[in-house]
Amino acid sequence: MDNSIFKGARSQLEKALKHFSIDAESELRLSTPKAAISVSIPVRMDDGSLKVFQGYRVRYNDLLGPAKGGIRFHPGVNLDEVTSLAFWMTFKCAVVGIPYGGGKGGVTVNPKELSLLEIERLSRGYMSAIADFIGENVDIPAPDVYTNSMIMGWMVDEYSNIKREFTPAIITGKPIALGGSQGREDATGRGGFYVLEALKEKLGLGSKPLTIAVQGFGNVGYHFARLAAQAGHKIVAVSDSQGAIFKEDGLDPESVYQVKQDSKELKAAYCQGSVCEFVDHDTLTNEELLELDVDVLVPAALENVIDKDNAPKIKAKVIVELANGPTTPESDDILFERGIHVIPDILANAGGVTVSYFEWVQNRGGYYWEEDQVHERLKVIMDKASKVVAELHSEHKVNLRTCAYIAALKRINEAVEAKGTIRNFSSRTRNG
Ligand code: NAD
Repeated sequence: MDNSIFKGARSQLEKALKHFSIDAESELRLSTPKAAISVSIPVRMDDGSLKVFQGYRVRYNDLLGPAKGGIRFHPGVNLDEVTSLAFWMTFKCAVVGIPYGGGKGGVTVNPKELSLLEIERLSRGYMSAIADFIGENVDIPAPDVYTNSMIMGWMVDEYSNIKREFTPAIITGKPIALGGSQGREDATGRGGFYVLEALKEKLGLGSKPLTIAVQGFGNVGYHFARLAAQAGHKIVAVSDSQGAIFKEDGLDPESVYQVKQDSKELKAAYCQGSVCEFVDHDTLTNEELLELDVDVLVPAALENVIDKDNAPKIKAKVIVELANGPTTPESDDILFERGIHVIPDILANAGGVTVSYFEWVQNRGGYYWEEDQVHERLKVIMDKASKVVAELHSEHKVNLRTCAYIAALKRINEAVEAKGTIRNFSSRTRNG
């Protein structure tokens, strides 16, 4: 797996291990995925033909509890990417202190080329293929890029049909009517917003309104932008896979999103939506968006968008990684040397899995919470995790990513030691 995303992910852990040593057995147990499957999913297309799609599910680690992680539908999905995402989930759950390990799944597909019925058949086919590999106490999927609550609804229905009983806790991010939680839809963006608010003064941003550029205006990027704009910050640019729009005085994320939903194209917001007549620049490339002179840059799309070539050109003071793995290890070092703080993915985007955890708790208890309670409980968890990472930052003088890994490693290490390591055996031998 040379030159792989997984290699880059592992190097983040290796950096943290230089500053915080763990039991050799913990290190060994974190070095490879616990289990992985690759599945073929035959799908009948609308024209009657049959296509076979490739799918994956990886359980990286379950030392702190059942594996947890989303399902991605994207043409770039492969085992290396899914393994890396499962690896990050392991540390993400540990940073925020929820009782889960890390997992991830995906299907190599461009869902934009499929009809809704074909996506339904693919979603049910994927669930059927992995049904024996997952379980509510084993591995619990959720949405990720290009999957959503409707797809989770089809998947929980398929799983319940297979098991012949309604099993809502098998998957999170479901529609409310099928056991979903209030507050799950915006949880990742909201969590990222809480983390930024908790850390902004420590990171030198002060308490004034901030200028923010968001790359990736999907579920996560949109809700973050909406909440930040509501709090008085200025969202000067947003982008999707087609390109970016920019407005120096600040865009209104809600109307941009509405136009994008109606037209399926962000650029349409420029000429059809309410922002149209006020826009100073029509469009930017995604590359230009990353290099804007803003207080905060928010990558909220895919991996490796900040690399050694563009890291020297980034002007933002703080980067909030709402996407998983948007910063390559080399660019991380460049940004650190340039004094740009990166709030790492495993902390910044942990709000989604936290409310997924709340959903699983509600499903198992059969008792459902109000939206306000979800927001309050999410804020408590994100504030607490931010505080721990901030304290480690003051103590270790290393980047925030390494601090987040240290926080996670402390928890994982405790679990390994509690299960017993070689020291138990050597002391028993001595005592015997
Ligand atoms: P989404 O499918 O809702 O949105 C993704 C957005 O990124 C879309 O607007 C798409 O057009 C855009 N995009 C794709 N390629 C792009 C490119 N090259 N440049 C700019 N924009 C591009 O997905 P999402 O759920 O919002 O997930 C976004 C990121 O957040 C992913 O990295 C995902 O792993 C991560 N994440 C999601 C959740 C969650 O709860 N959904 C939780 C944690 C992390």
